[in-house]
Amino acid sequence: MRKPLIAGNWKMNKTITESISLVKELIDFVKGYEETEIVVCPPFTSLWVTKELVGDTNILLGAQNMYYKDEGAYTGEISASMLQNIGCDYVILGHSERREYFHETSQEVAWKVQQALSFSIKPIICVGEKLEEREAGSARDVVKEEVEAIFEVLKPQDATKVVFAYEPIWAIGTGKSATSSDANDMIKYIRTLLKDKYGEKVSDQIRILYGGSVKPENIKELMSQSDIDGALVGGASLKALSFSRLVKFKE
Ligand code: PEP
Repeated sequence: MRKPLIAGNWKMNKTITESISLVKELIDFVKGYEETEIVVCPPFTSLWVTKELVGDTNILLGAQNMYYKDEGAYTGEISASMLQNIGCDYVILGHSERREYFHETSQEVAWKVQQALSFSIKPIICVGEKLEEREAGSARDVVKEEVEAIFEVLKPQDATKVVFAYEPIWAIGTGKSATSSDANDMIKYIRTLLKDKYGEKVSDQIRILYGGSVKPENIKELMSQSDIDGALVGGASLKALSFSRLVKFKE
């Protein structure tokens, strides 16, 4: 019922030239594959050329961030209308690197979610705890705060347009993935929060991804869990072969 989604977050990697090679290779590897929804999220500078290349193929386009204001004197920022104009289908919001290095708050993430939705861009909302929070037994509280901040802006009629990504911070870029059952437990918990707020019919349709050192070697195990609907992938999305193996996890 929930179509698996594999999204590649390239972070601050790939020049325009490098992006062109990666996207061309990826198009070849995943041509005609419809079992998984495929999203690539290049840096802003490569969005346009990526859109030109993917066109109407089975690869969708996402950005890695945006600002919540319409337009104006916000030097260095990118608006939702700019992303919409390029043809972005998705935008990653609230990634832990944005929260940590750029001090984004849950409130700001919520405003961004609201803004993205009003421009018909689907947000991939990242939530997740730090290692010390997990060790202190407060992982669920942290995730609850981050998820519930979104409830303030997310109207019931829009709830199925968003995607959540549970990304335990200690698993991002470390090679140390959460166990599939720990990841599934937290994702189930997020779905319970969604159910309490929007009802079961809606919560059953919202996709919740796992992110954190996902690679071809662990994707099958993760995707065999009841509530994991896909993956948000950093490192392994930078090579067309490994990313396409993730996309084709069913094969
Ligand atoms: C990410 O950046 O969202 C991520 C999960 O990175 P990695 O796959 O490299 O851990």
